[in-house]
Amino acid sequence: MKIESLDLPDEVKRFYENSGIPELYPPQAEAVEKGLLEGKNLLAAVPTASGKTLLAELAMLKSVLAGGKALYIVPLRALASEKYRRFQEFSELGVKVGISTGDYDRRDEGLGINDIIVATSEKTDSLLRNDTAWMPEISVVVADEVHLIDSADRGPTLEVTLAKLRKMNPSCQILALSATVGNADELAAWLDAELVLSEWRPTDLMEGVFFNGTFFCKDKEKPVEQPTKDEAINLVLDTLGEGGQCLVFESSRKNCMGFAKKATSAVKKTLSAEDKEKLSGIADGILENSETDTASVLASCVRAGTAFHHAGLTSPLRELVETGFREGYIKLISSTPTLAAGLNLPARRVIIRSYRRYSSDSGMQPIPVLEYKQMAGRAGRPRLDPYGEAVLLAKSYEELVFLFEKYIEAGAEDIWSKLGTENALRTHVLSTISNGFARTKEELMDFLEATFFAYQYSNFGLSMVVDECLNFLRQEEMLEQDSDALIPTMFGKLVSRLYIDPLSAALIAKGLREAGTLTGLTLLHLVCSTPDMRLMYMRSHDYQDINDFVMAHTEEFSKVPNPFNIVEYEWFLSEVKTALLLMDWIREKPENEICLKFGTGEGDIRTTADIAEWIMHVTAQLARLLDLKGAKEAAELEKRIHYGAGPELMDLLDIRGIGRVRARKLYGAGFKSTADLAGASPEKVAALVGPKIAERIFRQIGRREAVPEISDSETFEKSSQD
Ligand code: ADP
Repeated sequence: MKIESLDLPDEVKRFYENSGIPELYPPQAEAVEKGLLEGKNLLAAVPTASGKTLLAELAMLKSVLAGGKALYIVPLRALASEKYRRFQEFSELGVKVGISTGDYDRRDEGLGINDIIVATSEKTDSLLRNDTAWMPEISVVVADEVHLIDSADRGPTLEVTLAKLRKMNPSCQILALSATVGNADELAAWLDAELVLSEWRPTDLMEGVFFNGTFFCKDKEKPVEQPTKDEAINLVLDTLGEGGQCLVFESSRKNCMGFAKKATSAVKKTLSAEDKEKLSGIADGILENSETDTASVLASCVRAGTAFHHAGLTSPLRELVETGFREGYIKLISSTPTLAAGLNLPARRVIIRSYRRYSSDSGMQPIPVLEYKQMAGRAGRPRLDPYGEAVLLAKSYEELVFLFEKYIEAGAEDIWSKLGTENALRTHVLSTISNGFARTKEELMDFLEATFFAYQYSNFGLSMVVDECLNFLRQEEMLEQDSDALIPTMFGKLVSRLYIDPLSAALIAKGLREAGTLTGLTLLHLVCSTPDMRLMYMRSHDYQDINDFVMAHTEEFSKVPNPFNIVEYEWFLSEVKTALLLMDWIREKPENEICLKFGTGEGDIRTTADIAEWIMHVTAQLARLLDLKGAKEAAELEKRIHYGAGPELMDLLDIRGIGRVRARKLYGAGFKSTADLAGASPEKVAALVGPKIAERIFRQIGRREAVPEISDSETFEKSSQD
């Protein structure tokens, strides 16, 4: 089907033709035939890289150029940025694009001027909770990676959000994009959507198992040379020899790094002079962005053409690796499976070194077929590779047979709603009532009827779980009941708007009420004791240290559990460990020191700080509303967590471009506030922070000074810290 023949404005057709897309892929053509451009709901369950995003683009452009508004919902922030960058190309069509991933209690009314808005599902939910005015104007909703409804973490929010959007605007077109799942028909029926189900891919995919020096596919066998003792390295060299690149999936961060390091000597020998020069530039970029030990290992891997990629790295580092790979200089990325979840980073050959994953209740278990397919689907760069290859490794003939049956010949599993537990529902019950989507239990049940959970389980048991949630919310005074009417209290409304789990809010309120001595540690631990926080793992040698710390500071914790209650006490210790990490962060301990002390990555410090900042913000707001102690202290801590610095630096840190390291330098040299800087000599400031930053500082504080050039590089500072 030619783009030219589509019922789209001419400028849209020209846009695609000029970007080298004159014709639709078969699944795209099927979508058009099934009503994509006539406003019909549609579920496209097709493999990665087969043009799902383009499908969404066509529907969005058609609608927004006719005066509508599109919302593109993604599961991850990194994905939101990727889509945002892509959609910005529509500016030449006069289409405005916005992105919303930030603070949860903001309405982001300004975003309403955009035609296409990209947001995570959590952010969409929070925009709905805050009655954002432009939400009812949405004419197309795209739900990307909708199979994640199956995820206990993100699924419930996604399905409730979709149900709310449909209730708010029944005529809005829903476009759901999914990996191929077992029960796509069920998902489509829930959304009243036409189904496009296809295994079509733009590049052929050969799936197989490597065993005893041979790559076995369904209908062919390919011997692979064995220049080294490591089979995976041999597979990498084989691909590089054919001009391709490799993605290697590992089950842990440690293995990721280990494999990237191990492969350096073999991969280095294959590099050209140009590769080496570019790689050295990327490695320098990594070192400019981070001074942790992990970053220096990564930089030395990159100089040899390999890299690792996982959530322990900060996003600038991950982006450097992704770009270096996309441009073809980095030959091999060894990654945790998170990379398979959405990011557009294909490679000629995907090697799945480990198909088992550790789970705390059942030990090492084979991953689901859906996850395998997501990883395998990364093989083959459209238009660049003649084919893609996805390789599993077997140690025995029995394992080879098992892998073929389990993964290559099997279809993906069905997906199941995870909404049916009190933990998942509590927050959505409160928000549904707070926003007026339901005013009685009957209306609430009617609303929940529109969720995938109700569709799959015919409401089985839902009423009981809803009763448990309602009881909890009444008991915690977030809800009042007047005969049938369910009325949110001020507390309940604020909890819903702040986008916090009601259980977290109840714990915070109780903690503040019952705290004897209220110190920074008390508040940090309180934040870490909520279910919204992500806790640090305990390593065996942590127990003694953290236990000793607890013993020395018992009075600062609102409650210390009995150490004989082993499970509860261990959980408490990991809360304390997380609080201690945050304490080091706000005391300006260098990132590398924190990483080594807590056995964590720089990316984890940022994630932990981000979540803690948000919960501390909630704590300040709740303390204010409920007139509890701690409001001022929590507000100050919120800011300190944001910057990772001491209270005396806050004024300087409000200047853009100044991070904690530069602020400390200025402070140490006697410039303790913006007022001090206003009277400072430009030479002195430039000598401390560099001429460019000095100029930015003066511009912001309203002084127009000529800052002298300083040629020596001793003013250079690592940008990760500033
Ligand atoms: P998905 O969202 O399914 O992973 P994308 O929509 O991102 O896939 O498409 C993958 C790549 O294929 C993109 O670079 C896109 O520009 C290209 N593409 C999509 N549709 C077509 C088409 N009909 N013809 C040529 N290239 C296409």
